[in-house]
Amino acid sequence: MNSPDYTANLQRVQTWIQDACVEAGRSPDDVELIAVSKTKPVEAIREVYAAGQRAFGENRMQELQRKMEELADLEIEWHFLGNIQTNKLKTICHRVDIIQSVDKVKYLHEIEKRAGAADRTIGVYLQVNISDEPQKGGFDPNALLEIASELPTFDHVRVEGVMAMASLTHDQDMLKEQFQRLHSLFSSLKEMNHPNFAIKTCSMGMSGDLDLAIAEGSTQCRIGSSIFGPRNTLSFDAPSNKTPS
Ligand SMILES: *Cc1c(COP(=O)(O)O)cnc(C)c1O
Repeated sequence: MNSPDYTANLQRVQTWIQDACVEAGRSPDDVELIAVSKTKPVEAIREVYAAGQRAFGENRMQELQRKMEELADLEIEWHFLGNIQTNKLKTICHRVDIIQSVDKVKYLHEIEKRAGAADRTIGVYLQVNISDEPQKGGFDPNALLEIASELPTFDHVRVEGVMAMASLTHDQDMLKEQFQRLHSLFSSLKEMNHPNFAIKTCSMGMSGDLDLAIAEGSTQCRIGSSIFGPRNTLSFDAPSNKTPS
């Protein structure tokens, strides 16, 4: 099989984001793109990087660790957005830029420890379970603000935003409600006065629901298959081992 034309794919996604911003009456500069490269080879990442993309996302800690090593010569902004495994956190904390999928307070303490050992500060997003599906990770939206207001002060963790995955549905009203929920939490966190908060990112919108996410205030979308091509279904998003938080 021929490899996809990554440059054309990336440009198509950039145009898609711009059009969605214009449609929503927003500035295209307000929405950042994370290229989700999970399961894809480092050669593909190099091509997308050469086409101008700098921020990449991965959802397996070992895969991220391997790719960070193999691509150490590139100035990539690395995002982790999968299940956190405490015992593997230290393998990524020496290099990862943003951990998007923090859904338990204990992970903040773990990241604080590992980032401190590496003498770094790591940005995190709080993942929120807006779809109310127990198999999905994320803080309970009803509990998030109280939990956030009680967080201790950290030296090596900076809370920079919220992240969520909406339901896999075509029901636009349902999606809209979920995105509004996340955006409202984003706005409330922004108002909160905590020394480790620098809230700027509302990460929502994937290949299937990008337009609506942007209409509802997304500041960052995470796009995989529209850039890198379809993933092998065998390696695609193995069932989450998360228990509800
Ligand atoms: C895989 C993944 C994406 C990208 O999904 P696509 O449908 O390929 O665009 C976005 N966010 C997270 C958390 C993912 O795991």
